[in-house]
Amino acid sequence: MKQIALYGKGGIGKSTTSANLSAALGESGLDILQIGCDPKHDSTRMLMHGEWIPTVLDLVRERGDAGIAVDEVVFRGYAGVRCVEAGGPEPGIGCAGRGIIATFQLLERLGALDGDVIVYDVLGDVVCGGFAMPMREGYAEEVYLVTSGELMALYAANNIAKAITRLSARSRKKCALAGVICNSKNMEGEEDLVREFASMINSEMVACIPRSRTVTLSELNRQTVIEYAPESEQAEVYRRLARTVVENDRTSIPTPLTIDELEDLARRFVQV
Ligand code: SF4
Repeated sequence: MKQIALYGKGGIGKSTTSANLSAALGESGLDILQIGCDPKHDSTRMLMHGEWIPTVLDLVRERGDAGIAVDEVVFRGYAGVRCVEAGGPEPGIGCAGRGIIATFQLLERLGALDGDVIVYDVLGDVVCGGFAMPMREGYAEEVYLVTSGELMALYAANNIAKAITRLSARSRKKCALAGVICNSKNMEGEEDLVREFASMINSEMVACIPRSRTVTLSELNRQTVIEYAPESEQAEVYRRLARTVVENDRTSIPTPLTIDELEDLARRFVQV
């Protein structure tokens, strides 16, 4: 079983990438569990055709966790992907990791934390006290950083790289960087910039996902690209990413950049 986690700045497209990755993996016959942890609880929504599934934290809050059954928290979405939303507090409050911890504990007790690949889609915001939890507890064995070429996205990715470095030194559990995914904003020089960033932090850019109208259209139709436009070039991009994730056995301990190094890098590639 592979346990992967996608991290990155809020709004960078982690949920879209995670859902399409899970759909592509599910389509290839693998048993996939996707767990979203975000107060918006919309990580799995496109896999569920727009349905908002109940969150673990809401159920636990209402009823305590003793009487909760598997089918109240795990829902089958497109291509058989099992979907879970950890949930969280009202936006802006933060739950210091309670959402994701409650979810791990409940799924383990129910024997549902299994499958060929578990995809964690976790808010990468450092103000969220729980963002490092899947790494610290040894659930996020392979971390993928999702970033664009924008400085703030790279800054967030670099911060997460710092957390991986710190946690991999302290924790006995496995937690390493498996690659960088460029979720393009269509900036000039962006792909080269993200590739160079990945190499400077001792990793590799494993995919570059072009900005595409197909993504917008699919989401308006409440589906993943894999389901809505299976023949599209964009669907192929996600399928290639899925193959890369399955085959990837190169992980590394990142070497994060200083702010000056990060800014110098951005200046080298972006036309001003
Ligand atoms: S662990 Fe973080 S992302 Fe998850 S619900 Fe809590 S505050 Fe939100």
